[in-house]
Amino acid sequence: MARTHSLLIDRIACSGYGLCAELLPELVELDEWGYPIVGSSALTGEALGHARRAVAACPALALRLAPAPDRQPHGKGT
Ligand code: SF4
Repeated sequence: MARTHSLLIDRIACSGYGLCAELLPELVELDEWGYPIVGSSALTGEALGHARRAVAACPALALRLAPAPDRQPHGKGT
C-alpha cells in the first residue's frame, strides 16, 4: 500500500496570506480571517504531490506533511 501523509499547519507560524488555499483549493479552505483550514484526509498520489509543492511554497514554513495514521486513503475504506 502507498504511504499516506496528512497536511498539517503550524497556526502560530502561519501568516494567513492564503497561498496554500490558492495552490490547493481542493484541500484547503480559508476561514473568515483568511487562515487555512485543512481536512484530515490521508494524501497519496497526485494530491500528495500538490501538497508537497504547497509545503515548499509556504512563505512562513508553516505547512508540513506528516505520515498519516495507519488507515485507508480517502475513498478507499470499507
Ligand atoms: S501558505 Fe503558509 S503562511 Fe500562507 S496561509 Fe498557508 S500555511 Fe499560512
